[in-house]
Amino acid sequence: MPLLEVNSVSASYADGVEVLHGIDLAVNQGEMVTLIGANGAGKTTTLRAIMGLLRAQGSIKFDGVEILGRETPEIAKLGISMVPEGRGVFPGLSVYDNLRVATTPWIRRGQSAAEDLDRVFELFPILAERRKQLGWSLSGGQQQMLAIGRAIMARPKLMLLDEPSLGLAPNLVEEVFEKLRSINEQGVSILLVEQNAFMALEYSRLAYVIERGTVSKQMSSSALLDDEGIKAAYLGG
Ligand code: ATP
Repeated sequence: MPLLEVNSVSASYADGVEVLHGIDLAVNQGEMVTLIGANGAGKTTTLRAIMGLLRAQGSIKFDGVEILGRETPEIAKLGISMVPEGRGVFPGLSVYDNLRVATTPWIRRGQSAAEDLDRVFELFPILAERRKQLGWSLSGGQQQMLAIGRAIMARPKLMLLDEPSLGLAPNLVEEVFEKLRSINEQGVSILLVEQNAFMALEYSRLAYVIERGTVSKQMSSSALLDDEGIKAAYLGG
């Protein structure tokens, strides 16, 4: 049984224009899966539909449970964390507090977040060094690490990442992907949207191509990397 199963999902924004027209995709336990596609194809909207951030029709099952129609906090509690495009770091909070805000549910239940913090600091030692610095003062790469760290604090089974490499220098892009690989190896499944399709396909096993709100291709990342049409459209020839 896949961990995440998206079946015939359609979705519209408030203006009523349908953007997704029956998306089908699946993420198995422990997998890293990439969504690629042109600007405006519907990749971000697909992640938003999974996270319950817009109204959708069809079926989205997580761990065998129907989550379509549920509220976002409930979906997060079931084990899905999203790292949005633009990172969403709180500029006026310290690194430490940016991480702590994600742990409120545990603290309310009387559980400690100390282990989660240790895990994030082990994965991103730079965040431990800068734990007292305010969010706004971090570099783009550090903010991305913080956004990923915050998503981990919520103890997800599945992480949704929207363009984690956007605006980062090439050496940092590789570092971010290496971190994602470590997180994935620790058992967290990953669904990734990336403009940097080449890098994303190098790191994931399976990929879906989204075109105009539907899945036009689904194949192994290595097969996509060899596909002439895909190379011309998304991989700079
Ligand atoms: P990009 O890489 O440009 O983010 P994408 O594949 O992630 O591309 P989406 O952001 O999902 O694409 O957008 C899909 C379509 O939905 C586009 O036509 C876009 O204009 C439209 N859209 C996105 N957000 C909204 C919104 N808040 N209200 C109305 N339409 C929207």
